[in-house]
Amino acid sequence: MTVETMPHWLDKRADLTPHEIAIEDSVGPLTFEQLQRYSKMMAKKLANVGVLEGDHVAIFSNNSADYPCALYALSYLGAVAVLINTRLSPKEIAYQLNDAEVSLLFTSSEMHDVSKRVIAKADKDIELRAIEALIIEKEKQVPLKEEINLNDLFTIVYTSGTTGSPKGVMHTYGNHWWSAVSSALNLGLNEKDKWLAALPLFHVGGLSILMKSVIYGMPVYLLDKFDVEQVHDAIMNKQVTSASVVAVMLERLMERLDGSHYPETFRCMLLGGGPAPKPLLEKAKAARIPVYQTYGMTETSSQIVTLSPQYALTKLGSAGKALFPAQLKIVNEGGSEQPAMCAGEILVKGPMVTGGYYQNSEANKQAFQQDWLATGDIGYLDEEGFLYVLDRRKDLIISGGENVYPAEVESVLLEMDGIKEVGVVGKEDDAWGQVPVAFVVKSEEAVTDDQIINHCHLHLAKFKVPKAVYFVDSLPRNASNKLLRTKLVDRLKNF
Ligand code: ATP
Ligand code: MG
Repeated sequence: MTVETMPHWLDKRADLTPHEIAIEDSVGPLTFEQLQRYSKMMAKKLANVGVLEGDHVAIFSNNSADYPCALYALSYLGAVAVLINTRLSPKEIAYQLNDAEVSLLFTSSEMHDVSKRVIAKADKDIELRAIEALIIEKEKQVPLKEEINLNDLFTIVYTSGTTGSPKGVMHTYGNHWWSAVSSALNLGLNEKDKWLAALPLFHVGGLSILMKSVIYGMPVYLLDKFDVEQVHDAIMNKQVTSASVVAVMLERLMERLDGSHYPETFRCMLLGGGPAPKPLLEKAKAARIPVYQTYGMTETSSQIVTLSPQYALTKLGSAGKALFPAQLKIVNEGGSEQPAMCAGEILVKGPMVTGGYYQNSEANKQAFQQDWLATGDIGYLDEEGFLYVLDRRKDLIISGGENVYPAEVESVLLEMDGIKEVGVVGKEDDAWGQVPVAFVVKSEEAVTDDQIINHCHLHLAKFKVPKAVYFVDSLPRNASNKLLRTKLVDRLKNF
């Protein structure tokens, strides 16, 4: 007997709870039995257009019920799904298709025109198929996978490309399985659970909701994108009990909530994807929103460290503790473990952590130290072992020998009226090596650089206070809306 195999998740789920809702979207509800039927039908049609076991097929679509169908169709064939961010440029997409050795681009009709431009830029012949047009294909009678091997590759998802070129993260079925199970061990399962997916399904944050749905037997309330009214309505009126969000979404939801409260049955606002400014967490606490702050990355198949709401006040700003099967440690430059309260690089280990980047030996060599993944993020553990994430190692500013974490300075600046967005980077300086400077996008209220600097002096040690403030119209961000600090450093040449 081997322990690596289990029945195909969707077959098992459709057998256990066939008539329960899998997906609820604007089109209507879809049961697990229907999801299984459509996925198998799609698998046979894909087989008819030539998809074989082991092929790499890119899914290029915004959120829709077709997404899980496509994903499971590929899984039934033993093919690998490469998930493409729809906000990337054709050139960026072509890079990922080449890098992941994709043979077919499976695209929603909405993306068809962009897909043609992508194909034109790709290195080799890539077949293009519209998901909606597959209906006219015949079904080829091929054997479909009845079992899942946890060591098999299921998805390739690219990192956001915040610190360099995006890297293709390989996730096995086991990675996704353990991610879903670890989350349940932390949050518990409730018969009435319904999880809202407004995050894109092509990122691990959204994808992991689909995995949870089939493994737990839980409905997903699927939105095509984040829309504050729709999310608010889903939580208030559509019996949604959990939602995954990033900080800007939470900010906007709280503005919409405007002093009222979510129903008691709403039990989890899973917050991840990046740093959460402290003022935001304080406001959420005051609004009695059950925020679970998390730390994770594409490489960890979503959250790997999570803070429960009971600690939200005493451990404000912490990302919490590693999930049950996971471990984390903080190491110094020499690789030795750091004592409590001392910052260093965050290393993580666990069954939800990727085995590596696809055909990228250079990145693999840098990131993996035995079974530990070096995250490239800096943080520390407090005396009780709670993790505080400070910033990315690459963005650290060293000023006169002191470490300045841009995220901390940005968080202080965001507390000020008059500041809409801010990015802090290091500028070369003869006396100090580097000094922090701030790029600021103003909101409607008037604010001057003197006021900004004065505010910083009240809340930060002197060496952390920006030495210059540059007012700009917008900040450079990637397709995941993450701040590109390297581009800000480039802009410094103009100032
Ligand atoms: P790339 O790896 O290509 O540079 P990326 O790291 O932005 O891109 P993702 O995997 O989408 O790609 O993002 C994971 C990163 O997001 C983490 O490594 C970390 O820097 C940041 N992050 C996630 N959660 C938190 C958190 N709670 N606090 C601070 N930063 C976080
Ligand atoms: Mg990363």
